[in-house]
Amino acid sequence: MNSSWSDQEALALAEAYAGKGVNEDLALRVYTSRLLGQDPRLVLHGGGNTSVKTKRVDLSGDVADVLCVKGSGWDMANIEPAGLPAVRLAPLLRLRARESLSDEEMVRHQRAYLLDPGSPNPSVETLLHAFLPHKFIDHTHSTAVLSLADQPEAAKLCAEVFGARMGQVPYVMPGFALAKAAAEIFENDPTVEGLILLKHGIFTFGDTAREAYQRMIEMVSLAEDRLAKGRKPVFIPRALPDRTATLAEIAPILRGACAIPETGGAWRRLVLDFRTSPAIRAYVDGAALESYATRGVVTPDHTIRTKNFPLVVPPACADDIEAFRGAAREAASRFIADYRAYFERNNRGQASPKKPLDPSPRVILVPCLGLFGLGRSKNDAAIAADIAVNTVETITGAEAIGRFEPLPEADLFDMEYWSLEQAKLGTVKEKPLAGQIAVVTGGAGAIGAATARLFKKNGAEIAVLDQEATAAGQTARHIGGGAIGIGCDVTDAASVNSAFACVAETFGGVDIVVSNAGAAWQGRIGSVDEALLRQSFELNFFAHQRVAQAAVAIMLAQGTGGCLLFNVSKQAINPGPDFGPYGLPKAATLFLARQYAVDYGRDGIRANAVNADRIRSGLLTDGMIAARSTARGLSEHDYMAGNLLGQEVTAEDVAQAFLHQALALKTTAGVTTVDGGNIAAALR
Ligand code: ZN
Repeated sequence: MNSSWSDQEALALAEAYAGKGVNEDLALRVYTSRLLGQDPRLVLHGGGNTSVKTKRVDLSGDVADVLCVKGSGWDMANIEPAGLPAVRLAPLLRLRARESLSDEEMVRHQRAYLLDPGSPNPSVETLLHAFLPHKFIDHTHSTAVLSLADQPEAAKLCAEVFGARMGQVPYVMPGFALAKAAAEIFENDPTVEGLILLKHGIFTFGDTAREAYQRMIEMVSLAEDRLAKGRKPVFIPRALPDRTATLAEIAPILRGACAIPETGGAWRRLVLDFRTSPAIRAYVDGAALESYATRGVVTPDHTIRTKNFPLVVPPACADDIEAFRGAAREAASRFIADYRAYFERNNRGQASPKKPLDPSPRVILVPCLGLFGLGRSKNDAAIAADIAVNTVETITGAEAIGRFEPLPEADLFDMEYWSLEQAKLGTVKEKPLAGQIAVVTGGAGAIGAATARLFKKNGAEIAVLDQEATAAGQTARHIGGGAIGIGCDVTDAASVNSAFACVAETFGGVDIVVSNAGAAWQGRIGSVDEALLRQSFELNFFAHQRVAQAAVAIMLAQGTGGCLLFNVSKQAINPGPDFGPYGLPKAATLFLARQYAVDYGRDGIRANAVNADRIRSGLLTDGMIAARSTARGLSEHDYMAGNLLGQEVTAEDVAQAFLHQALALKTTAGVTTVDGGNIAAALR
């Protein structure tokens, strides 16, 4: 591993921060924290921490000796000075004399001595940083170091690799006890340049930011050199099927298998994030996968993101998808039952009983395919996948030179259910569509975009499908939060199928479809050109059928129900003069919704329609509004608000109706009218 230190960059950052009242110590602390945080082989997603002992001015203007240490909730990769809250050093050091200190008390002390009470909570490893005398201290969960430290013979191996340059701390859970143990080991030999925390990670120290950082790089490089020595192909491959199923076929099956039914027809669903590479394939295709992959996490911190071990399913054989589905569902229920048993087993001895976390797996390993991260959002799924990829590397290294041996279950349980770790996950109330995946066709249009935006706001992952790929991408970017845009011609079956495959590959499946794409054709029905009528049927009826068909196939593979929503327009109920070519297929689509409700109710798939009218959109442009209101001798406002409520109806109002239908779990074959009130178009 090479050092990324640059005098020029360090100086530039120090100068930039000097103008903002940040001293050089803290500026350089930020600089090397970022260097460490940006390398996934060192830290991942909020893991690791760093500190500097310096002087800061408190709120009353007095200068205080402080420890600036990483605050919880900050990621080292993009940390700012505010992410390294300053804690008064002297009162922290006095805690050393205590016999014991509970985690809650420790947090109270750490918060009490903050210079600025508005700061985030200092790291749970603050006292470890405080009790060591060095000015700069860096802590990472280096992949290479963990390959050595997660071994039955870790102590001997680390002594060989690092010699007397590094002290060794046997595993103790982070907190007061670890801080004291680490300080004592350092004091036994104050010449060490850092500490190896067995089954946890590595600390390095220095008088300067550069020294602590470069020692980290040097120690990690020593570990890497050791792993490279006499390395053999680690995993003996298992027999694999000749034909492998596709990611798009496999993902919905696994997603469904890991969902957990809740009361009232609801499901607790997860979103998937897929990864593969030659290294991942070598790992998941190994004959002994069940053994090395399910021993535990590489560092205890990871357990809150990935649980202690992944779900392992049989190879994804294309010849018998149903058999794979059965086996995957069985494996998932076994995982869930095992997790519940693990909780019961370990909760029994707890002084204060814990509340069980959701028992679904967070990582799935699929021979002949790769691995999936799972989470209640795409973001959480990606974090779990990042950690899983890193785990593959660590365990591969460990097995290459010996045997991967992580902490025993009881220690991992303590970490998974540690109140301070749980706090990292936050207590934010989940949004109503969390864990669900929604596809919106005609997604770049006014109603489509408003609906996609509202669904995202309510927690769903979003795929915007639109005939215009660029517009789909733009709308998705605008919505943000990982929404994807896909160009899709809904009048073309291949285009629809490939769009849905892409959604399944990206998120793992689909739960809600808003079949919204449409266009208006006009003509007096007695003299209309049949080709025009067929063209309208193609988009305003057959496209809805095609989209629903593709969605239902995925929903059935998941086996967790689903929701089909159709935009049918007022024309389906109340035909307007010369609007036959538009109204007729829309009326057929209204019945299409009912047919899906009838045929798939037993599978938990609901089908509903929204009947909207006079919405400012691509179908009713500003120019058309001007022309029509003039023709009727009305102001634009009176034309648009010509309904019982006397108010213009917007795309956002239609989006609200779709959201309501998505959330009304006992409503199917329903039609919601969104037109401000038009008694002639009222359903009877
Ligand atoms: Zn750590």
